[in-house]
Amino acid sequence: MSRTVYVNGAYLAEEDAKISVFDRGFLFADGVYEVSSVLKGTLIDNEAHLARLHRSLNELEMEPPASDEDIVATQKELIARNELEEGVIYLQVTRGAADRDFTYPEGATPSLVMFTQVKNLLESPQGANGISVITLPDIRWTRRDIKTVGLLAPCMAKQAAKKAGADDAWMVEDGHITEGSSNNAYIVAHDGTVITRQLGNEILHGITRKAILKLAETIQIKIEERPFTPDDAYDAAEAFITSASTFVWPVVEIDGNPIGHGKVGPVARRLRQLYIEMALQEVAEQAKT
Ligand code: PMP
Repeated sequence: MSRTVYVNGAYLAEEDAKISVFDRGFLFADGVYEVSSVLKGTLIDNEAHLARLHRSLNELEMEPPASDEDIVATQKELIARNELEEGVIYLQVTRGAADRDFTYPEGATPSLVMFTQVKNLLESPQGANGISVITLPDIRWTRRDIKTVGLLAPCMAKQAAKKAGADDAWMVEDGHITEGSSNNAYIVAHDGTVITRQLGNEILHGITRKAILKLAETIQIKIEERPFTPDDAYDAAEAFITSASTFVWPVVEIDGNPIGHGKVGPVARRLRQLYIEMALQEVAEQAKT
């Protein structure tokens, strides 16, 4: 059975959904997106994702395609139509269709597309056993805080990781790790301090990052938001990544070097557990309303 997807006001079978060849998302990657996780059919931390969507839209002087209320209603309707229990919902806004010209067209109608993807979030093998990463030069543009659909550099990075027999790539700029190809990157020092890159234009301001740093504080974990090097990472007690589609995945190998003897460490395990508890709490609370 094919999925139902949402395209500009219509719920359609995925094979019937169409976008103009003049859509600026297609021609210029002139669009932004969000991925929210879904557990037990319930959106997790979605308000924060919509807040970041507005930030991305603002940075590009793009109009919101609909009110937040309508966006959430559409997300929920799509989740229901696809009977999505566990996975993610993808939402993309582009500047719309206009004759090809670099400057922003006046009066173009933004385009809104959504689809769901089934994904094992709670019981993922990577969450339990960890992943391996390689480091690569960060060749992306310098406004990584805007969540645009221009994702060719991360595609190249993930493909290079796959070729090298690794699960993902961490990006290096000026000798320091910025983030993962589609996630934020962390190391844990031997004294238990969690170290992750500070916010700025160099990284995406991860919604899961924000939640994890808050959760870490609640259990008195010390946090340092600062740049760290691949050497710092090789010598770390633990490493991990966060994103809406992984929650927390431990990293047990970096550039062939085992981290923490190549085993999942207690800090990553605990933070993953705390995040899942928080998410399930949100599920329970939303069930009441
Ligand atoms: N950094 C990058 C480059 C990403 O693509 C993502 C996921 N979209 C993240 C970080 C994690 O962000 P979030 O926790 O909001 O999913």
